[in-house]
Amino acid sequence: MKIASVLKIGRKNYTVYGEGDDWFECNFELSSLSFGNIEKCELCQSDNLTLRAREAGKKKHKYVEVYCINCKGAVVFGRMQENPKIFYLRKNDKKKPDWRAFNPKQTDEDLENMLNNDKK
Ligand SMILES: [Zn+2]
Repeated sequence: MKIASVLKIGRKNYTVYGEGDDWFECNFELSSLSFGNIEKCELCQSDNLTLRAREAGKKKHKYVEVYCINCKGAVVFGRMQENPKIFYLRKNDKKKPDWRAFNPKQTDEDLENMLNNDKK
């Protein structure tokens, strides 16, 4: 069986599916996306957002982010260390989504530090 849910990222709707042999498995798969709708960019308040999968840095780090087309800011999804299939929205010290302004000088090291900071 298969269940569907709709995720709203800015103005866009993404249909996501959970698939499995039973109700538990379907919901278990769907709950690997451990975050809710993302209405707007918290840097510029625009709803002109999109999802991007990126491969960056010398070590080709793979990650997914919500990207603001308006101000080029982004918030990156983290992955649970013990189960990398579980994605969550990275939060800052104030428990708010960790939106980061576009930084043309971001180094490989910055990227690595951010991505290696995943929840255990
Ligand atoms: Zn923005």
